Amino acid sequence: MSKKIKVNVIGAGVIGLTTALILQKNGYQVQILSEHWPGDFDINYSSPWATATWRANPNIDDEVVHGKISWNEFWKLSETPEIGLMRVKIYDFMDKKPELERDMWFKDLVPEFRVIPPEELPSGVEYGLSYTTVSLNVQKYLHWLLHQFTTNGGVSKKVHLSHIDESFYDSDDVGVVVNCSGVSARTLGGVADTTVLPSRGQTVSVWAPHIKTVYILSNRDSFTFIVPRESGEVILGGTMSIDD
Ligand SMILES: Cc1cc2nc3c(=O)[nH]c(=O)nc-3n(C[C@H](O)[C@H](O)[C@H](O)COP(=O)(O)OP(=O)(O)OC[C@H]3O[C@@H](n4cnc5c(N)ncnc54)[C@H](O)[C@@H]3O)c2cc1C
Repeated sequence: MSKKIKVNVIGAGVIGLTTALILQKNGYQVQILSEHWPGDFDINYSSPWATATWRANPNIDDEVVHGKISWNEFWKLSETPEIGLMRVKIYDFMDKKPELERDMWFKDLVPEFRVIPPEELPSGVEYGLSYTTVSLNVQKYLHWLLHQFTTNGGVSKKVHLSHIDESFYDSDDVGVVVNCSGVSARTLGGVADTTVLPSRGQTVSVWAPHIKTVYILSNRDSFTFIVPRESGEVILGGTMSIDD
């Protein structure tokens, strides 16, 4: 029988945990090395802070990637409480009408897609969309990802790495290292990727279980949002200072 390739994944954010799970499902022997873990809060651990509502920017010519999951399967996931997904209606407002080169790629992907007629828009808003989407309680979701990984035999180690080489020395048979260190890729020795920039932001969390609709207003300098989670918490945001 062939020996499984041993992979070390650096980081237990949404990227590291997802990468680890996918590698594991594809037959690799995976270990996660990370300083922060689901349940931790730290300025260098972005994932627990994410607002996480699925939306697409009409200005951006994203391509539809035909993944292995359909929206119907996705809706089914929202019925699994451990994941923290909730179906929501979204109102996505823009202060300026976008210049669209072609039809929005996601208009047939999400249910109840609608371009809001101008007479229904609030003042100061030139353009708006509404549709049904999902809002994710990331803190719950991170725990769920880690639980899946551990249940499938994954190994996790709490460690701060000063240099990426330390992840290879962890044991003598590490075949591959996948770096999912987020914004810390900027400072991790041997990586020092200065193209990675932090954005400083601020959000407020309030208890308002009656709110079940997402509202977003984007304009050139800011991004304002009201995002409910299935827990009854609502995230109000936010500020964003790039490269701070
Ligand atoms: C307020 C806010 C709202 C956001 N909203 C959204 C949103 O709605 N949608 C969206 O897509 N994105 C959003 N984002 C961005 C999103 O949160 C991040 O892009 C994403 O979480 C990054 O995940 P990650 O796994 O790459 O990094 P992280 O979650 O930061 O994880 C990095 C991991 O690497 C580990 N690590 C780093 N360096 C080392 C080291 N030297 N040794 C050991 N371990 C190390 C850390 O401990 C951590 O576990 C938001 C961000 C913020 C702050």
